[in-house]
Amino acid sequence: MKTYYNSHVHIFSKKCIPVYILGNNLSYLIKALDWLQMNRFVIFLLSVFKVLPITREAIPRLKMFFRSFAQGSQHEVIEHLLYQEYDRFSESGSFKIVLLSIDFDSQNAGLAPLNYLNQINEIAEYKRLKPYRDRILPFIGINPYHTIFINLPIEDFVKEYIEVHQFVGVKLYPATGYYPDDSRMEKLWVYCEKNDIPIMSHCTCGRIHYQGDASERLRTPSLFPNMTEDDQQVNFTDTENFKALLVKYPKLKICFAHCGGIVFSKYNQNELEQKLISKNFDSPRVIEYKWYKQVLAWCQSTDYPNIYLDISWINHDRKTLEDLRDEVIKHNIMHKVLYGTDFFVNIDKTTEEDAYLLSKQIFNMDIIASENPQKYLRSLIHGDL
Ligand SMILES: [Zn+2]
Repeated sequence: MKTYYNSHVHIFSKKCIPVYILGNNLSYLIKALDWLQMNRFVIFLLSVFKVLPITREAIPRLKMFFRSFAQGSQHEVIEHLLYQEYDRFSESGSFKIVLLSIDFDSQNAGLAPLNYLNQINEIAEYKRLKPYRDRILPFIGINPYHTIFINLPIEDFVKEYIEVHQFVGVKLYPATGYYPDDSRMEKLWVYCEKNDIPIMSHCTCGRIHYQGDASERLRTPSLFPNMTEDDQQVNFTDTENFKALLVKYPKLKICFAHCGGIVFSKYNQNELEQKLISKNFDSPRVIEYKWYKQVLAWCQSTDYPNIYLDISWINHDRKTLEDLRDEVIKHNIMHKVLYGTDFFVNIDKTTEEDAYLLSKQIFNMDIIASENPQKYLRSLIHGDL
């Protein structure tokens, strides 16, 4: 029987989220979750007044998120995902899920009740336990600004989680305020390249990002100085920073999540193309489109043989998936596409089942959810997973 994989899932529960994760303005929302005060009507009002960027259809899902397993432990989230979701709707045998941990401590958004080290140590514990250990594939989230790295080399820390605690890859989230080619991670990349360790990088301009004064962490001059404070994050995520990394470590195995994050049913591809040609980067959407094109180009390049993209989050949008599939076929890079959903983060856009069914209509799941992830996840440390 074939094994299938969702290569992009988050299982952080409410306890892992700091109060200012969505910025000062939405901190009341996070506090309200604590008190369970967020009922359907309040969410509806917030959406009507556009305080929350959600649609009417998203309300029941958000309510489920606020009132359900998300209030519990990460363990409850794993159970939900495996048993209430994949075991119910997928007829594809056993599904394994890649769990992407995130350091929420180092983005100036406050401290979560369950801090980063506790979050990953909980996951390490689940990885030791039956029945989860065979079905969960944790990645270690890294932010070089975490205070533990003042005294501890990042590569030693990652090595321990991969070799002792059986984590299988590294998760990057540059939007939380750092550059992927930060010199503090130099030896980490040597280790990852040598051992063929998979790296997953967030690659879109979204809601979770560095909440402090970006100028404290930005290089000068910044690549896109004219962005709003919320959108300064594009400077950290930009593919130019990865280019610098890949020139040094061309064999690094990196998956660019959400393939840049642009949604084609909302934004016109011809207009984006024109702006890209004239280098008119007047919105994060043009920059996301630039990332989309760059990731597709890297997937075709023989200089960087280990670049992948995933369809997580964007698989709430049929047009985006269809356009991407056409590009992928045109450039003969179907072996570079990974199935994922961005579970939890996608909750205001789709359900896990709908994301799965839509992906299955447009792509061949035997390729993107089985053959490709097997190759992507395999490393010299753990072999086949
Ligand atoms: Zn994600």
